[in-house]
Amino acid sequence: MSVCVVGHSNPDTDSVTSAIAFANFLKATGTDAKACMQISAENLNPESKVVLEKFGLAAPEEITDAAGKDVALVDFSDIAQAPANIGDANIVAVVDHHKIGDVVTSSPIFFYAKPVGCTGTVLLEMYKSNNVDLPKDIAGGMLCAILSDTVNFKSPTCTDADKAAVAELLQITGVTDQDALFMEMLKAKSSVAGVPAKDLIFRDYKDFDMNGKKVGIGQIELASLDQVADIRDALFNAVGEVKAEGRHSVLFMLTDVVKEGTDLMVVSDEPAIIEGAFSGKIEGQSMWVDGMMSRKKQVVPSLQDAFGA
Ligand code: MG
Ligand code: MG
Ligand code: MG
Repeated sequence: MSVCVVGHSNPDTDSVTSAIAFANFLKATGTDAKACMQISAENLNPESKVVLEKFGLAAPEEITDAAGKDVALVDFSDIAQAPANIGDANIVAVVDHHKIGDVVTSSPIFFYAKPVGCTGTVLLEMYKSNNVDLPKDIAGGMLCAILSDTVNFKSPTCTDADKAAVAELLQITGVTDQDALFMEMLKAKSSVAGVPAKDLIFRDYKDFDMNGKKVGIGQIELASLDQVADIRDALFNAVGEVKAEGRHSVLFMLTDVVKEGTDLMVVSDEPAIIEGAFSGKIEGQSMWVDGMMSRKKQVVPSLQDAFGA
């Protein structure tokens, strides 16, 4: 049976390209594997579409139910972000850069996680230390994943290892203008024209369990908050709709990657917890949090503390 390599739900570029890169790594080292993702190719986020097209990579195949399958997880280890019935799957490997989640296995597995900015950085190290040939197209995908996850090195999640990995991947791919590549991705990622507000909330969105309370956090990265000025009310209503689907709180991060901060929209049963977490005051729909770029490194840990998780 071929191992399905799959990233988290609502896959971002790292989840998509890491599934491709780790599936190729497994095949090159003697394990049959295929890249998968938890959505269909047509529903892929616009940034990842641009990345796959630019480097001529095929979209991973859709997997919705993991029951009875051999699976390898990349870019996550939380059950909440896994395909359905992950408990009935045989998890054979995890490669990640997030906090360790709540998957459990019945036998020992390959588990490799490092506190770096991107799974792509972890995978590049694995390719090198195992002397596995890295194809140029896959290197291109990994390069984009690191630029995306680290917001072109501006995120506090970015480490020296990520910067070194990008330098190597630029060499391998022959890409000369890192900033231009990032802006091309950002343009695709932040395009809001004609997209329903709720789809924008879910474009890059994760649910978390915070001390028994379900908290959803979405993020959109923008070159300027002006890009969403006309749709703020629609976005806020959509945040309220998502919250009404059985969540304690929903946060939507409107991240200005140029100003390096986030206008945080909040709908919550207990907004004071959110205000306390970020030492701010919600005025109307949102609060500006200077320096907030990363859901993983800044928002989730502060919220977990505030919720007492
Ligand atoms: Mg990810
Ligand atoms: Mg990642
Ligand atoms: Mg991300």
